[in-house]
Amino acid sequence: MAIQPNPYKLVCPNCGSSKIVAPRSDAFSPKDLIAMSPVCSKCGNKMERKNIDKFI
Ligand SMILES: [Zn+2]
Repeated sequence: MAIQPNPYKLVCPNCGSSKIVAPRSDAFSPKDLIAMSPVCSKCGNKMERKNIDKFI
């Protein structure tokens, strides 16, 4: 049985940039690891992880 990771949101408290992180499996590719990195791509600030109640 595969574990389905819950998607979550990363929000930068500095510039307000946000992104959705939705791992598709427990096998991560380098691209997934970059997408999951909690560092803002705009300003380099550490992003805060937020849970998502509904995935629209
Ligand atoms: Zn930022």
